[in-house]
Amino acid sequence: MNVKWNGQFSCFDLVSKTNECSNSVVRVGNVEIGSGSFVVMAGPCAVESERQLLQTAEAVAAAGANILRGGAYKPRSSPYAFQGLGLEGLKILSKARSETGLAIVTEVMSEEDVCLIAEYADLMQVGTRSMENYALLEKLGGCGRPVLLKRGMTATLEELLRSAQVIAMSGNRQIVLCERGIRTFETATRNTLDISAVPVLKTVSHLPVIVDPSHAAGVRSLVPVLSRAALVVGADGLLVEVHPSPDEAMSDGPQSLTFRQFHDMMDDLQPYLAIRDAAHRHGPHLVAAVGADQC
Ligand code: PEP
Ligand code: MN
Repeated sequence: MNVKWNGQFSCFDLVSKTNECSNSVVRVGNVEIGSGSFVVMAGPCAVESERQLLQTAEAVAAAGANILRGGAYKPRSSPYAFQGLGLEGLKILSKARSETGLAIVTEVMSEEDVCLIAEYADLMQVGTRSMENYALLEKLGGCGRPVLLKRGMTATLEELLRSAQVIAMSGNRQIVLCERGIRTFETATRNTLDISAVPVLKTVSHLPVIVDPSHAAGVRSLVPVLSRAALVVGADGLLVEVHPSPDEAMSDGPQSLTFRQFHDMMDDLQPYLAIRDAAHRHGPHLVAAVGADQC
């Protein structure tokens, strides 16, 4: 452990890596995140209709995704943009789970919605804009569901872990961290994927870490290569946007993959997954900063 990091992060005692707890596993439905397998969450940015979601659910399941994503409550940059279907969207997500068996991850924006969304979701997503909404984080501490905590687009890793500590102190240690790109001076991509966040977080925290290449890139052509990078650098999984016809998507179309592109990306990841599995078998030190003991 780098001494600087230890001093920087060890005050967040419930989420920091310790000798007793070096690698926690988060269970979402019957999927385990952080236990060694690479978990792929995929689906549209927003639930737009039953047909759109069910088609997508079937396509991503067939391509090997483990969890279905889709926003029913959307935090949009513009107040004029589509804000999501709300409760109707949650019901559509629930139907997709019954039809495909995929667990559901969906975003919660307000502490007032936590109980309702927890009735429908298997994994509660906290978006980049809400990472420091402490009222929401505290409420999630008692929601009885695991939490996917996205890094704020201007947040440091210390601030991300501070927010994770708030959830843990409120009673919920089932937390998955997500690197989704941060704001930098670069404008060629929507955000800058901070790839080093993955090994740093895997070194200082016992929590699983996934990468969202879609919101980092903002363009679909970069999503497969960033996914590959995430896998190689030691991430526990991905969160990827997929849409039946991205050019007609009501949100985040430019970064959404078509069914065919998602299928091809999953195929292209196979050789890297095989290397990752072999590295795990030969010793965790071969895979970036992965600890051996589970907690
Ligand atoms: C999303 O996952 O659709 C989303 C809004 O993500 P973020 O909060 O990272 O922008
Ligand atoms: Mn989106």
